[in-house]
Amino acid sequence: MLIRVVPVGNPPEKIMSVLCSQIENSLGIKCRLIRQIPLPEHALNIWRRQYNCETIMQEVSNIPEVKFIDKEIPTLMITEQDIYFKGLSFVFGLEESDTGCCIISLARLMPEFYDETPNEKLATERLIKEAIHEIGHLKGMDHCGNFKCVMAYSPSVGDMDQKERTFCEKCKIELMTKGIKL
Ligand SMILES: [Zn+2]
Ligand SMILES: [Zn+2]
Repeated sequence: MLIRVVPVGNPPEKIMSVLCSQIENSLGIKCRLIRQIPLPEHALNIWRRQYNCETIMQEVSNIPEVKFIDKEIPTLMITEQDIYFKGLSFVFGLEESDTGCCIISLARLMPEFYDETPNEKLATERLIKEAIHEIGHLKGMDHCGNFKCVMAYSPSVGDMDQKERTFCEKCKIELMTKGIKL
């Protein structure tokens, strides 16, 4: 299995390369890092000071390197900007199963967003968990009731920090039953 990672905007290069190598290590799937794509300006809502993640996904999906080839090859977009979706005040990430795309924002994974001491390692770990979680959704997995499982629903970074970057035994069995290698 292969996954494509697309930096959208200016997410730190170091975090992008660590994310790729850690996805490869944790899931045993090849990760292809695509060139950085500028944020589509019209995705910005100037009143909210946030980007509409649906608009970003639509725009970026049409770029030749990213263009939809096969939804079996997930596309993971990462941006450093804060994103929102429809009626929600923000989202950490969102996936679209029909296109095989998902987007994750680093903005609220950074401790400095909450006026805490910057900690790149912690932010990267949160990003890895969020990435594995979204890949899980793209592969048809639902949220899991086990708070330690990577498929647990995490409405806050506190919840995210409690979970691990691995699938629980129940989810592992489900993945196996579905014939998904993750
Ligand atoms: Zn989820
Ligand atoms: Zn689970």
